[in-house]
Amino acid sequence: TGHFPSTTVTVSVNSEAYMEVFRSDLSIESTGIVPQELAEQIVPEALAWASLHGILMGDKAVESSGKIPGTGLVHAPVSLLPSPFLESHFKQAIELAPLFNMLVDEVSKNDEFLQKSLSRTKGADRFTARLLDIHSLILQEGIKQEIYLGLHRSDYMADLRTGNLLQVEINTISSSFAGLGSRVTGLHRYMVNCIGQRSDLDSKAIPENEAADGFAKAIATAFKEWGNPQAVVLMVVQPGERNMYDQYWLSTKLQEKYGIHVIRRTLAEVYKSAKLHEDNTFSIGKHTIAVVYYRAGYDPKDYPSEDEWSARTLMEKSNAIKCPSISYHLAGTKKIQQELAKPGVLERFVKKADDAEKLRRCFAGLWGFDNNEELQVIEDAIANPDDFVLKPQREGGGNNIYGENIKSKLEELKEGKTADSFDAYILMQRIFPPIHTTYFVRNGEPITQKSVSELGIFSTFVRKNNEVIVNEQVGYLLRTKASDTNEGGVATGFAVLDSVYLI
Ligand code: ADP
Ligand code: MG
Ligand code: MG
Repeated sequence: TGHFPSTTVTVSVNSEAYMEVFRSDLSIESTGIVPQELAEQIVPEALAWASLHGILMGDKAVESSGKIPGTGLVHAPVSLLPSPFLESHFKQAIELAPLFNMLVDEVSKNDEFLQKSLSRTKGADRFTARLLDIHSLILQEGIKQEIYLGLHRSDYMADLRTGNLLQVEINTISSSFAGLGSRVTGLHRYMVNCIGQRSDLDSKAIPENEAADGFAKAIATAFKEWGNPQAVVLMVVQPGERNMYDQYWLSTKLQEKYGIHVIRRTLAEVYKSAKLHEDNTFSIGKHTIAVVYYRAGYDPKDYPSEDEWSARTLMEKSNAIKCPSISYHLAGTKKIQQELAKPGVLERFVKKADDAEKLRRCFAGLWGFDNNEELQVIEDAIANPDDFVLKPQREGGGNNIYGENIKSKLEELKEGKTADSFDAYILMQRIFPPIHTTYFVRNGEPITQKSVSELGIFSTFVRKNNEVIVNEQVGYLLRTKASDTNEGGVATGFAVLDSVYLI
């Protein structure tokens, strides 16, 4: 191909290897999609492409990298080649995207349902309680926001035990990697083309991924509806954010394609300079804010003092379009996911029986601890902890409890020896995804490992009063992690950015 020497590797690669993954069971070693030697040869090519095309993050080793763009750059952790994914599952996930958008929107409009479903959580989890307080406050004062903007990512894994595609969760706040994820698809097409004749892999099996354009377009649509071309988008960010390039992919697109200016502020900075006006608009310095796009605010650590809560409250009171609104934020909590899975509850929000059935098909088993019937599941989970995941009301990865830790946590909660309570958690059926082999590339180093993948489908939604203006699927993200780690998350260091090779 001319990209790198091909003389040393003569093994031809067959995409059958991908099929094997799905035929094999958990105990059988799968072969990987290209031989190790070939994979290692093409690593420099991948690293160069990633760097040239902005698949970047701030390097932990460089102090300024989370603060000053353009300093201490390192490529984001990626897989060298795309991972196999069943086409039928992929199509199913895409078909579900507009349905989940509608579901989140319907749930978000039902204030009583949100408050009631989260009432026990409120007593057990201070963070959720604060969010609910903001929700109550703005209901009391009268909601000023007329336009709603959803930038969601619904995450799934294929489950070997049931053969089904099961939803892990839906993210309604700070859904990340629309920016970098769509670039990784470009990387993988390039890599498959690079290997060229030495495999029968076909870059056409890697589906289009326009997630970054889709997110920017939805923000721009909402912005235009708001009706003040002089206004700006406020991106609320964490201080020292090393995943800033994923975010800059969206803000630079907004400027270049739509002429919309984006300013970045931390919650603490918003607190210092935001002003709420008589007409319910709010401003930061000379900027009137049309859209608040939260890439912070989902984690209790984002609120080290009352200042940050004041900033959030001020923004929620305003008529700016919050992405997400406080009600969208609450609708995306794990407790609501579990509540919707109860018999008949989802069906209250989805009018077409056919749609409700499609959504339900991807629900894993979910249990709360609200009534005596559900308490039996505690005993089941103590006896078989590997069949469950115990989840608190948190986002951003690294918070769930697995295996033996589930057993000890549940026993501790039963004995009441802790300030913690059952009401802060939900239990979920553990999903067992198929295992394949991935060439993980981190910090320039390739490592071959057994891996599992989680598919995220990005979707956008815009509603003005009662009119739905946008409701679409815009792209995807595959995150792949070593099969022996429980948690996912690219930012948390477990997973790499990947894309799908449809089989
Ligand atoms: P967060 O909001 O922190 O991302 P998730 O519910 O997505 O929380 O859980 C984090 C990670 O834990 C997922 O990306 C996935 O790798 C793993 N995980 C979550 N739920 C399950 C499950 N039911 N079965 C297997 N793994 C799971
Ligand atoms: Mg999440
Ligand atoms: Mg997640």
